[in-house]
Amino acid sequence: MPKQIFDTLVIGGGVVGCAIIRELSKYNLSVALVEKESDVGEGTSKGNSAIMHTGFDAKPGSLEARLVGSGSVEFRTQVAPAMNLPCEKIGALVIAYDDDQKNELDQVIARAASNGVDEVKRVTPDEIYALEPHLAPGVKGAVSVANESIVDPFAPPIAYASQACLNGARLMLNSTVTGLRELDGECHEVITTSGSYYARYLINAAGLWGDSVDGFLAIENFHIKPRRGEFIIFDTAASRLVSHIMLQVPTPKTKGILISPTIFGNVILGPTADDIEDRGSPGITRDGMDKIRKLGAKVMPELLQEDITSTYAGTRPATEFSDYQITFNGDRRYVTAGGIRSTGLSSALAIARYVVEGLADMGLSLKEADNFKDYRRLNSLSEYAPRPYQQVERIKANPKYGQMVCFCEMVSEQEILDAMQEPIGAASLKSIRKRTRAMMGRCQGFNCAPKVNGMLFDHNGVDIKSLVA
Ligand SMILES: Cc1cc2nc3c(=O)[nH]c(=O)nc-3n(C[C@H](O)[C@H](O)[C@H](O)COP(=O)(O)OP(=O)(O)OC[C@H]3O[C@@H](n4cnc5c(N)ncnc54)[C@H](O)[C@@H]3O)c2cc1C
Repeated sequence: MPKQIFDTLVIGGGVVGCAIIRELSKYNLSVALVEKESDVGEGTSKGNSAIMHTGFDAKPGSLEARLVGSGSVEFRTQVAPAMNLPCEKIGALVIAYDDDQKNELDQVIARAASNGVDEVKRVTPDEIYALEPHLAPGVKGAVSVANESIVDPFAPPIAYASQACLNGARLMLNSTVTGLRELDGECHEVITTSGSYYARYLINAAGLWGDSVDGFLAIENFHIKPRRGEFIIFDTAASRLVSHIMLQVPTPKTKGILISPTIFGNVILGPTADDIEDRGSPGITRDGMDKIRKLGAKVMPELLQEDITSTYAGTRPATEFSDYQITFNGDRRYVTAGGIRSTGLSSALAIARYVVEGLADMGLSLKEADNFKDYRRLNSLSEYAPRPYQQVERIKANPKYGQMVCFCEMVSEQEILDAMQEPIGAASLKSIRKRTRAMMGRCQGFNCAPKVNGMLFDHNGVDIKSLVA
């Protein structure tokens, strides 16, 4: 028998897997997570639109509608304020550009009502132009959804996993699962590139590889059909043009291309929705850029005149089904949280509760831990609140909050030190970027990356070349 058998082990450290270990760590259980990358939140969870959706447009009665609705309310009203995770309720406008789309707007309102989403109302063209004066002429009407919010997309997986680790969960990074074996009906062997781990209950939250991980146990409930989304990020100067999340009338395949402020003070335009074969790192394409530029030019021509800071792409773990594929295999003590394609950032907390309730039904004994520790992130990266370099008292107490390393994004030396000292400390340039915004601005790290590299070297004492990976 193996020396250590975890009660529960999660495969995949995206926003879903991290929310699940956070939820599990509220109980007297041994909890582990294995992730193939060197940090959490490196899969689909780092390439999304960063909208905390209300679920107004989800298919009524679907599992997605239920979980997005409750997950996003919990995030907005409880978890984000408690953990210091940026979340701004700026509201969305679902805009009709032709008569067919205008006719759809009543459906949008009806759907929102079926999904229990309130503060949704019709807006006239005059009202729209008062709210968003830079839109191109010709808008036919819109629906406003007051509670749609923008967030820092990188923070939730880091914060959820950090809280879980503070409460005893173990995180195994750089560990790709290559096989699963059931041992004597007692536990699973999880074979990874960093060795084998053992657990009584397994949860597959492997995102784009969800069906492959199921395949290790000869389970075949769905097939991943990767769907790429590409974005353009405009410079912060463009923020004067856009105040709300501006959405198209959604179709069954996609929520359409949006224009939205980001929590970091930029404006994004995107995403596309293209079915592709490759599940690996998605790149941007000329075709994708052309598509979003074309739509952007139609909706807000002025935006296309603004400077571009960067571009990025993410891949949705779509399947042949429109709804989430969350399945409980009680006999084998195995759960799959798969096919969380377009809304997992918003629903993750509710998915976690749903999965843990299902595990209890499968026989996992849940006894609440006596002293579940709170976790609050030290620094918020939101431009909607004073940043550390703008907080005089903080700089007086620690002058390193006033010493800039990244001048494009105004990131101080102390914020980078804080990021390295978090419960899941940043140990590479990409991890520093997600936790601080350093290297995310106009120069994309041309000026500050060497300094950040040096700080990583001083802190971790490892070869600088290995940090770039
Ligand atoms: C273009 C786009 C826009 C989006 N916009 C929004 C939005 O605005 N709002 C919203 O709520 N949602 C949005 N989403 C959806 C959201 O990003 C996803 O639903 C969510 O990130 C899925 O999280 P996940 O944890 O299931 O997957 P992932 O984040 O992909 O996590 C899975 C993890 O499993 C790991 N893994 C895979 N195989 C293995 C293995 N064999 N061994 C070990 N680890 C493994 C991966 O490395 C990865 O880290 C968008 C998605 C895209 C692509």
